[in-house]
Amino acid sequence: ADGARAALGELVGDRAEEWDLAGRIPAETVREAARRGLLCAQVAAEHGGLGLDSRANGELTAYAGSLCSSLRSLMTSQGMAAWTVQRFGTAAQRGMFLPRLTGGETAGVAFSESGAGSDLSAMRTEIRREGDTVHVTGAKVWVTGAAYASLLVVFGTYGSGAAVVVVPADAPGVRIERVPDPMGCRAAGHADVHLDGVRVPADHLLSGAGLPVALLATTALTYGRLSVAWGCAGILRACLDSAAAHARTREQFGKPLADHQLVARHLAELAVAEQVALRCCEHASACWDENRPELGTQAVVAKYVASREAVQGAATAVQVLASRGARDGHPVARAYRDAKLMEIIEGSTEISQLLLADHVRTGRG
Ligand code: FAD
Repeated sequence: ADGARAALGELVGDRAEEWDLAGRIPAETVREAARRGLLCAQVAAEHGGLGLDSRANGELTAYAGSLCSSLRSLMTSQGMAAWTVQRFGTAAQRGMFLPRLTGGETAGVAFSESGAGSDLSAMRTEIRREGDTVHVTGAKVWVTGAAYASLLVVFGTYGSGAAVVVVPADAPGVRIERVPDPMGCRAAGHADVHLDGVRVPADHLLSGAGLPVALLATTALTYGRLSVAWGCAGILRACLDSAAAHARTREQFGKPLADHQLVARHLAELAVAEQVALRCCEHASACWDENRPELGTQAVVAKYVASREAVQGAATAVQVLASRGARDGHPVARAYRDAKLMEIIEGSTEISQLLLADHVRTGRG
């Protein structure tokens, strides 16, 4: 894990601002991160991965989140893609796809459609098997990392249920159209994906085809939620460090900002926010690592808490830095834009509230 952290730090260096302003990470850097197994670090060594447990991968994800939420977003997508293959693929499919994800290729995970955002049961993308061929037709929106991806893990309808299929991004009929102006995580390669009569071999259809969409999607989303939550803990760490350093050195009214009580309160709130987010992430990762039944719910709790704390914490950090943090590429300004998007993805704040309320109401999992 220490080696992975050092490699990540070396790859990002001081380039996060440049990537954010340019709206892209150099393709070679993305490939290198993938080749070193950093983007899906929980994949086992037998498939070329680093084999980290959820806690160690979470800490790596938080570190990435503290440096660059765009790269961290790619970790979330790649990890979700790998987990979906791990969970639903046969041994042959795991052997076919996982070494590609740890060997330099990247993947996007496509659920959302223009008419199916929070409500994935409204998906219209059709996956259909005819003999040795699987046909995929539909249109996905906002797929993180799709602009860099060579593989797309696509969810769609399959008969009266749902299915997941791995689609090469260069298959005939696939068209990838970058989201030109994302508000945050600007270098994460978000793109709309058009799938027009795409054909892939039948062995690209993961097992579980025909299962309810909620079951398939929740499995992938549980990884995504935990990853986003750890990323938000990293955002909070970066905001706390930046605000604390500034408040210690900047003087107004003859003393450091940190000695003014109202600013000191901002620092205390940020410190608590980071701890709260971290503890929720650690708990959910422990559930993952110990295979506990409450994992699904605890991943929702972690994502819900950490994303809300990150939004509030980033706003607080901008307040402490004031004009120094009011420039577009500054770490706290980036954090402010990036954090807000974390309240939307992998189940929005409202959808998380509904899931948690349902958990309370039914007393289930
Ligand atoms: P809507 O579903 O239209 O919701 C609008 C608002 O209404 C939200 O506040 C929502 O919480 C609220 N709402 C909806 N239903 C209810 C309800 N029943 N009760 C209460 N409130 C409700 N998709 C992918 O498939 N793959 C990706 O990699 C991916 N990456 C993304 C990255 C970013 C940065 C963003 C912004 C989006 C990404 N998405 C991705 C899409 C994302 O999953 C959707 O934006 C999300 O599911 C919300 O859907 P929507 O935007 O259509 O909002």
